[in-house]
Amino acid sequence: RADVAMYQAKTSGRGRFTYFSHELNQLAQDRQELEVDLEKAIKDNVLELHYQPQISIEDGKICGVEALARWDHPRLGQISPSKFIPIAEDCGLIEALNQWAIHSACKQMASWKEQKIDIPRVSVNLSLHNFHNINLCELILGELDNFNLAPSCLILELTENVLLDTNPSTIKVLLDIHESGISFSMDDFGTGYSSLSYLQKIPIKELKLDRSFVSDIENDNTSRALSKAILQIGKSLNIKVVAEGIENKEQYGILKSQGYHIAQGYLFSHPLNSTKLETWITNVFPKD
Ligand code: C2E
Ligand code: MG
Ligand code: MG
Ligand code: MG
Repeated sequence: RADVAMYQAKTSGRGRFTYFSHELNQLAQDRQELEVDLEKAIKDNVLELHYQPQISIEDGKICGVEALARWDHPRLGQISPSKFIPIAEDCGLIEALNQWAIHSACKQMASWKEQKIDIPRVSVNLSLHNFHNINLCELILGELDNFNLAPSCLILELTENVLLDTNPSTIKVLLDIHESGISFSMDDFGTGYSSLSYLQKIPIKELKLDRSFVSDIENDNTSRALSKAILQIGKSLNIKVVAEGIENKEQYGILKSQGYHIAQGYLFSHPLNSTKLETWITNVFPKD
């Protein structure tokens, strides 16, 4: 919208410019309000994590959950993380948000452990865009320690674009984290910058096939060929590959027959708050 307004403003003479510059002002003001609200939401701990189950294709059991941030804005309602994460990255809130996500996910894992709910691992999305916190490793280890959790409980999901930033200090942080026994998963695999060379620099333990390869896989030969090729990359590297965004049985059947290891998507469950996830688990995997 901003682009359109700008374009129209430029092409339609002086009077119009004033009109559209008001609109741009409004956009800037909305944005600034969101930044202030987001900062407060993180500080007041009103963001929530929802959890989406991940299913081991081999035995059909739940092998983990992915934690996804939710923001119920007092005036605007639910705001998608695809909208507020980039804001956090731009306005210096991403470290606080990362910290909040790791803390909340660890706290939840400890609670499930105590309730004897068998969820072996939690995946947390980590944004390293515009990130400076060189204490990230200590911070994560501190949270694990605090909640008495093994490093193997935690997987950090990174996106390929993150690794365009080959800033040596970022790489060092990632290597330190890995040294401590925490794994990395490459999210949205196949959609980012198409160099695979980062796979040599960063120890990745899992690939996640992006949803865009899955969404039409039952009709599209190219999607099927690409999902197969991506699985092959994972297998050659001896790491697991997750298929995300599975919405129907046909898609699941194809990915299963190709040899995918882990499945995630609306077919199994939407992301749920912790209470609803607990109910889901009890219903789908009743004990005896
Ligand atoms: P992502 O990490 O790739 O997460 C998967 C997204 O796909 C989630 O959207 C999830 O709700 C959605 N999804 C899952 N299964 C299906 C399906 O079967 N069909 C369709 N159409 N969608 C499905 P969501 O929760 O809106 O999150 C969007 C993105 O925001 C995430 O993509 C992730 O990059 C980012 N994000 C979410 N939470 C956090 C967070 O706590 N920290 C950071 N840094 N980023 C986050
Ligand atoms: Mg993810
Ligand atoms: Mg993804
Ligand atoms: Mg994504």
